[in-house]
Amino acid sequence: MAVHGKRMTTDAGRPVGDNQNTLTAGPRGPVVFEDFLLFEKMAHFNRERIPERVVHAKGSGAYGHFVCTNPGIKDYTTAKLFATAGKRTDVFARFSTVGGEKGSADTERDPRGFAVKFYTDEGNWDMVGNNTPIFFIRDPLKFGDFIHTQKRDPRTNLKSPTMMWDFWSLSPESLHQVTILFSDRGTPDGYRHMNGYSSHTFSLINSRDELFYVKWHFKTLQGIKNLTRERADYIRGTDPDYAQRDLLEAIERGEFPKWRVYVQIMPEREAATYRINPFDLTKVWPHRDYPLVEAGEMTLNRNPQNYFAEVEQAAFEPRNIAPGMGFSPDKMLQARLVSYPDAHRYRLGVNYDALPVNKPYAAVHTYHRDGVMRFDGNAGAEPNYEPNSFGGPVEDPLYNERPRAISGTVARHDHREDSDYYSQPEALFRLMKPEDRERLIGNIVASMRTVPRRIQELQIQHFYKAAPAYGTGVAEGLGLKIEDIIAAEKAGVAAD
Ligand code: NDP
Repeated sequence: MAVHGKRMTTDAGRPVGDNQNTLTAGPRGPVVFEDFLLFEKMAHFNRERIPERVVHAKGSGAYGHFVCTNPGIKDYTTAKLFATAGKRTDVFARFSTVGGEKGSADTERDPRGFAVKFYTDEGNWDMVGNNTPIFFIRDPLKFGDFIHTQKRDPRTNLKSPTMMWDFWSLSPESLHQVTILFSDRGTPDGYRHMNGYSSHTFSLINSRDELFYVKWHFKTLQGIKNLTRERADYIRGTDPDYAQRDLLEAIERGEFPKWRVYVQIMPEREAATYRINPFDLTKVWPHRDYPLVEAGEMTLNRNPQNYFAEVEQAAFEPRNIAPGMGFSPDKMLQARLVSYPDAHRYRLGVNYDALPVNKPYAAVHTYHRDGVMRFDGNAGAEPNYEPNSFGGPVEDPLYNERPRAISGTVARHDHREDSDYYSQPEALFRLMKPEDRERLIGNIVASMRTVPRRIQELQIQHFYKAAPAYGTGVAEGLGLKIEDIIAAEKAGVAAD
């Protein structure tokens, strides 16, 4: 029989004669050990899964580009992607939920990951943010504890509102992010209708060696669109891959999603005296203090050809910055600089950054060699040590880190010394329309219903301190008397 199309082979390239029938001793079996095709197929299948990401396991990705629309940004940075108006840089973006497993539903109430890899001329810049400008905690020592509350109860293997609200009520710095999470923005309508934020403060450095602290904002040009709790719950059951489908099909239809990219810019000297700690991840920089400056526009216009190769194996890491960019003292950021590559080495192996989706467009010349699954030629015959006298790559002091002044003592400084947990949640609550507030309170009440009374009361005290109507609304929804809760707090006892 003539073969049409590609001839099937084994992993070793040997053509396969029969992919329908196992090799057996006689028509009724048993199977003989020499059926290498059967054993190769089964062995490979047994190893198809790699560890899923411990957070952001469920995600969707697409390729596109960033175009600089404001070359004025080069007053703040030497990063070449902002050098001229119209300068185009290819990108790969991945969006995700955070707490759910790889097969979980896309419409869960959760922050959304918003990660963009810019393949710049001088190496990758990974903007690894969220659809929220802030986060639940501001000390990385608490990250694992916090994420455990978003996962499953160790005994029941069930999601546990008690674990979540217990942690949040005892971590009042989380109130700002909790307020965003339970607002409509906690259930965005797919990935195209949400903003992205670096959340962390980073820095830019210009040709005069001046440093500016910055926060990145990606504003959706599709407009913000969210799902109500009822609609999100319905879609969770009927179309759990809703956001993946929406992104994929929009791009296939030629409706390419776009975001306008902005940056808030704080000159270095202002950081020390600004009334808000600019490195506190639970706080925004109000727009009136640091207005958004346009930088460019991002468009996504190409779907990956293979989900596993390009989306599952994508590895984003905040340590990837272009020359002309820097970090900040934000403790959460500092921990992520180490934690992300560590996670990738565990999940994908030490050579993860040579995988096609992660590989920079810029030439890579390192002295790293070998390691599991080295598949890129391993730098051939080039010297594998430095210094050497055989023409190996050399350092260029032009790209050295700019010196930064530090002060203070090495100690476990108490981040709770800033006890302003309430002013920014208050500002957010105040800008919500009455119907937004009603849905916020309804979403919280639905989540807190089964939580022990003492935890409900402590959390209601936090809501009340942000805005009396906020605390009162939640208390009423849960059938509790706000006066008793406030009086009990003043007396230092539980209301029940
Ligand atoms: P502004 O009035 O200047 O900005 C308010 C911003 O809040 C809007 O521009 C919009 O930002 C965002 N927003 C509007 N509705 C909601 C909502 N329901 N949920 C979450 N965000 C919303 O005031 P400030 O800059 O003083 O900020 C006031 C509060 O707004 C902050 O405490 C913070 O909670 C929230 N916010 C502030 C941001 C900032 O960077 N300053 C960014 C996002 C939220 P956007 O267009 O980016 O969505």
